Amino acid sequence: MSNLIDKLSAILDRPSLSLGEDISEKYHADWSGADPCAPSVLLKPKTTDQLSEIMALCFQYDQPVVIQGGLTGLAGGATPLVGELAISLERMRGIEAIDPSGMTLTALAGTPLQVLQDAADDHNLSLPLDLGARGSCQIGGNVSTNAGGTEVIRYGMTRALVLGLEAVLADGTQINAMNTLVKNNSGYDLKHLFIGSEGTLGIVTRVVLQLQPKARSTHTALCAVADYSSVIKLLVQLKRSLGPGLTGFELMWDNYYEKVLEVIPALSSPLEGQFPFYLLVEYLDNDQQLGADRFEAVLYKQLELGVLQDAVIAKSYQDAEKFWQIRDGIGELFQVLGPVSNQDVSLPVADIGLFATDLERRLKAKYPGISVLLFGHIGDNNMHICAYTGREEDKTKISHDIMQLIGEYSGAITAEHGVGVLKRDYLPLSRSAAEIALMKTLKVAMDPKAILNRGRVFE
Ligand code: FAD
Repeated sequence: MSNLIDKLSAILDRPSLSLGEDISEKYHADWSGADPCAPSVLLKPKTTDQLSEIMALCFQYDQPVVIQGGLTGLAGGATPLVGELAISLERMRGIEAIDPSGMTLTALAGTPLQVLQDAADDHNLSLPLDLGARGSCQIGGNVSTNAGGTEVIRYGMTRALVLGLEAVLADGTQINAMNTLVKNNSGYDLKHLFIGSEGTLGIVTRVVLQLQPKARSTHTALCAVADYSSVIKLLVQLKRSLGPGLTGFELMWDNYYEKVLEVIPALSSPLEGQFPFYLLVEYLDNDQQLGADRFEAVLYKQLELGVLQDAVIAKSYQDAEKFWQIRDGIGELFQVLGPVSNQDVSLPVADIGLFATDLERRLKAKYPGISVLLFGHIGDNNMHICAYTGREEDKTKISHDIMQLIGEYSGAITAEHGVGVLKRDYLPLSRSAAEIALMKTLKVAMDPKAILNRGRVFE
């Protein structure tokens, strides 16, 4: 190792290479907090060429590495394993170009998502990717995990926003696939190998993203419904009536809604009374007045039909923010709930209500005193599950039981956060043996010495 470190020191200046106790605890684990481990060496290259040289050396020395973006991942993927050297992308940040006519943005992979959102906004454009970790997560991490977020119902996951990218392979080879064209069928579309593969096939270094025109008006409502079948009816009706303008359809079960209001005193319910389900609905339009009228008329109709029990429309940006704070309150909840099994799964939207009831019934029968909080991006089949008893020793067992039930319902063990290390053993519940074999074939072809994010996604 000392020989390798000497050679790495010749590539990087001192602040870009740290050893042992000089490495801050921040780099010991991602935000899942699971199994922290200090990397032996931390490298922060500034350019693709430096990163290429680093990987060529690691390849030569059979040195395993872990790739670290903003470390907001919740699957343990960026957490170092014993003996790994960590490569952080945080110094590879900055926007290279914004093309207002093609509506594209080109940036280095270590740029925080929020910086890109703000830059698009400055050009009266929008990057339709948003998640609670926006200030810390990096676009390279978003691409590598194919992140979802709150606008997937309209714009798709990160994969749908990436036109091109640049990546460095395990042996240091640079792949320049910085396509800016919407249509390009010239051979394999190699970017997809790196999107959602969680750093196991290559390190994303630059990206070209497709932007959208910024909508002129945003309309937000908090709605209440009596049962899950009404949730589905409302979703179908809103999709039909509002078309592609429907950009948010976030469901909160009463267990989540009531808990978040109880724990965060600054929040209050804009609705009077209690209901089994609450929905945060967001609609974008290009005309403020017409949009407001259309949104109100569509919701009023659903009230008349009895699909909605109640609804309140935000009258200002501040109102809308308050509605979203209820949905985003999960971040604060985590700080007080103790050991929580935190899962993000997906199922056909029609099955989610039954799955949720079944899940609660089974967990409550097995773990006396358990609390189950449910919410999610239901418009795109995705539900989040937080289950806790207060006892650390139950956490893994609860996670295991949830995964098994997802397998029974033929759902996906992870909708957004990725497999990482924490869900690796459950991958066969969601993917066939032939699919996993093909993933491994790709891994061997692109990383024959298995030095890149080894042991993530599969063993
Ligand atoms: P990291 O955590 O650093 O890494 C994640 C994985 O990607 C690791 O395997 C790492 O090795 C790899 N990686 C990172 N950068 C690169 C790179 N440049 N090249 C190759 N591999 C790389 N996720 C969602 O999908 N939707 C949400 O709505 C959402 N909400 C969240 C809310 C909160 C409060 C938090 C804490 C997390 C949330 N997440 C969500 C999870 C997380 O923010 C995303 O997975 C995010 O995309 C991770 O980006 P990151 O830069 O922090 O990556």
